Amino acid sequence: MSDLSPPGVDRHTHLEGSLDPGWVRQSAAARGLAVPPALELLWRGEACPFEGFIEAFLFGAELLDHPDAIQGAVRAAVSRLPEGHGEPRGLDLWVSPHFLVEHRKLLPLDQLWKGLEAGIAEAARQGVRIAVVVDAVNHFGPRHGHATLNLVLPERPPWVRGFSTGGLEGVPFREWAPVFDRARAAGLRIAAHAGENGPGSNVREAVLEGGVARIVHGVRAAGDPGILDLLAARMVPVDVCLSSNRCLVPDLDPHPLPVLLAAGVRCALGTDDPGVVPCDLPSEWERARRLGVPAEGLEQLRRNAVEDAWCLNPGEGS
Ligand SMILES: [Zn+2]
Repeated sequence: MSDLSPPGVDRHTHLEGSLDPGWVRQSAAARGLAVPPALELLWRGEACPFEGFIEAFLFGAELLDHPDAIQGAVRAAVSRLPEGHGEPRGLDLWVSPHFLVEHRKLLPLDQLWKGLEAGIAEAARQGVRIAVVVDAVNHFGPRHGHATLNLVLPERPPWVRGFSTGGLEGVPFREWAPVFDRARAAGLRIAAHAGENGPGSNVREAVLEGGVARIVHGVRAAGDPGILDLLAARMVPVDVCLSSNRCLVPDLDPHPLPVLLAAGVRCALGTDDPGVVPCDLPSEWERARRLGVPAEGLEQLRRNAVEDAWCLNPGEGS
């Protein structure tokens, strides 16, 4: 039934976490590297401690040292979208240029942009639109945030539409506000991973003190009606990644997606790191159904996925 089919828009996935497992295995073998046990565990759908997830994520990320590899990662992310059946298809793609270019020096910035450009053009030929969101690491602090902007702003391609923080929610969002202000002034939209590995109150702080316009995860805010009211009243989009949460926030059981939707929060689904925690948009949709999200909630997820996607709705500095 078309009214219960998943949307064609993945609202949150990381380039570095989207790699095709077969490609990772092949690339590792070609370099004489053994795939770490943590990644094998995750690929089999088994539980893994957070440190293991990070090790698994970084193992794949460090294979991204060539534009072809970057393009292949975009292709893998696009392949996890459902067929569009004439509906809009798109992907809001988080990318960590500072990690790839400066921190690990895997490839120069122009080669990263070249690979992304090729992947985005290939996706466009399949009717898939992509917005890139530059991800900085919260716990590295605002100086790292400014360094990331110094790297990407001078020759920013037009498909780089957003700036976000990820990693551990270790530095208060009010301290990030000047970085967000600078990114916004340069025409980028602002998102943050919040209320995932940090408390739900981080979601309120991100919105009120950081000026963040979009929340990734936000799931720990579900127990605080005041924060849910704030998100609903301000129509803040929230990207929810069920498989990722099950792996990295295992204490959240049952998952609060139905609570968020019932409170009027503008949630949409994303895959987060589907090359590490295997999933795709149709499987996330099935998970939402199995959580008991009612038909009107599913319809809301579909509508929000399209209406709030940055890949489909270019906007500046919001
Ligand atoms: Zn994420």
